[in-house]
Amino acid sequence: MKRQEPFQTKQKEARHYFFLNPYDDMAFTVCPKCEVKTKIRKYCLLIHIEPRHLLSLNKSCRYCPRCDLIIVKKADLERLLVAFCEQNVPDIIGNEYFVYGTMDRKDCKNVKTGKMNAQDAIKCSYPFKDIWMFEVVPGGWYPEK
Ligand SMILES: [Zn+2]
Repeated sequence: MKRQEPFQTKQKEARHYFFLNPYDDMAFTVCPKCEVKTKIRKYCLLIHIEPRHLLSLNKSCRYCPRCDLIIVKKADLERLLVAFCEQNVPDIIGNEYFVYGTMDRKDCKNVKTGKMNAQDAIKCSYPFKDIWMFEVVPGGWYPEK
């Protein structure tokens, strides 16, 4: 007998590590963890802005293939968020936000055009494996821990 699959509510598997780079003058052309040169790759990021707004952004990010680490400059991201909010939801500019994870390009588009609701967007996205922080210490880079 064929068992009926439950309605898909399971999260997708986690993908990538994430670092939101708070340093305006740091481009991270090398990875802060392994010091290998980073590449530039486009990712669809799913971002939650308080109190309850989800948006998707197709953004060029720094990426370290060895660590599977995506690095996004905070200032760049916030500029995009402000531009988006000004056009669409001006009353939430400046609210707390967090980057939830990445999405497939087709899903990203559906969120952008409003074809996909927030619940489905979360379901379709890949949460990050972990969020990393790095602190600048004169003379080198060290993980925060
Ligand atoms: Zn690395």
